[in-house]
Amino acid sequence: MISPAPRPEILTIHPYIAGESELPGANRTVKLSSNEGAFGVPPSARAAIATAAEEAYRYPDGGADRLRAAIGKRWGLDPTRIVCGAGSDDLLYQFCLSYGGPGRDIIMSAHGFSIYYIAGIYAGSRVIKVPERNLTADLDAMLAAVSPATRLIFLANPNNPTGSMLPAEEVARFRAALPPEVLLVLDSAYAEYVTHPAYDAGTRLVDATGNTVMTRTFSKIYGLGGMRIGWCYAPPTVVDVLNRVRGPFNVSVAAQAAAIAALAEPGWVEKGCAHNAEYRPKLSAGVEAAGLKVWPSEGNFVLVDLGTIETANAADAFLRTSGIIVRKVGGYGLPHCLRVTVGTAEEVGLVVDAFAEFMRRSRG
Ligand SMILES: *Cc1c(COP(=O)(O)O)cnc(C)c1O
Repeated sequence: MISPAPRPEILTIHPYIAGESELPGANRTVKLSSNEGAFGVPPSARAAIATAAEEAYRYPDGGADRLRAAIGKRWGLDPTRIVCGAGSDDLLYQFCLSYGGPGRDIIMSAHGFSIYYIAGIYAGSRVIKVPERNLTADLDAMLAAVSPATRLIFLANPNNPTGSMLPAEEVARFRAALPPEVLLVLDSAYAEYVTHPAYDAGTRLVDATGNTVMTRTFSKIYGLGGMRIGWCYAPPTVVDVLNRVRGPFNVSVAAQAAAIAALAEPGWVEKGCAHNAEYRPKLSAGVEAAGLKVWPSEGNFVLVDLGTIETANAADAFLRTSGIIVRKVGGYGLPHCLRVTVGTAEEVGLVVDAFAEFMRRSRG
């Protein structure tokens, strides 16, 4: 029998590996593998999802008008320059399929978010991964990789899984040095967690240029990863393209309602951000005190460097026996590291203790 064949490059794509959520046999699982916010679903969003059940037989508002208005109000942005997606991943795919394609190169940093690679190859592009410096995107090297074929560049800021952040000034200089026909996508999935004064999520650069977009998500600090909702802020020409190609009903009734409610939840972002600012350093310090290197992070996660692949695998296995799931990042070219999400105060304590116990045992 002959099976129908996709384009050959499709079979070079490895399926995205999501953070696991269950450990068979464990009576309690601590899930620190997907950078989900530490506090679950905002109560008002939970109520909105329940109410949305009544409306689930109707198609959603294809333009997400109320949600775009709410986002625009929250961030002081023109709603006509916002497009919503089924997670920001949805929009990342649309960028690749619209601006990439055969003969059109995409550039990303070596340890950048894996969806850029998957979506880029899917679109038929060559995807160039540029080596980083100190686990931070090397903007000069990325510039040097630009050719007349380059059409799209992805930059996660802060980046997942490394946690590294680029100052707004450096990103602006990078944009200015890029050819105008290159679309720069600033993926600011973790923007709400950043406290560094040199940071800008990208709105200023989108406003100042006609060829830069910023993507955001409700999956992290807003606690709605399961609802699949993200958005981008883009120049009118890019908005026009996205509205031609995206699924006409790409954001569900429940997702739109949940996101609108989450935006109005009093103090939610402040609480998540303050918790992260307190417990990310505690997580890092605790793991460092156990004798391990932790990379600096501006996100709601840290990258723990175990030195070797064997030690990383052994630590992961030990954490699992303790009921703790973290994220292996071999697929990101970092097989000697583990990524750990900043959980609740209790979860941070548990994972720090588990790393300390692992190190005690491995010293014998
Ligand atoms: C989590 C994450 C996203 C968000 O994905 P959604 O599809 O919105 O859930 C995007 N980019 C990066 C770098 C991320 O870590």
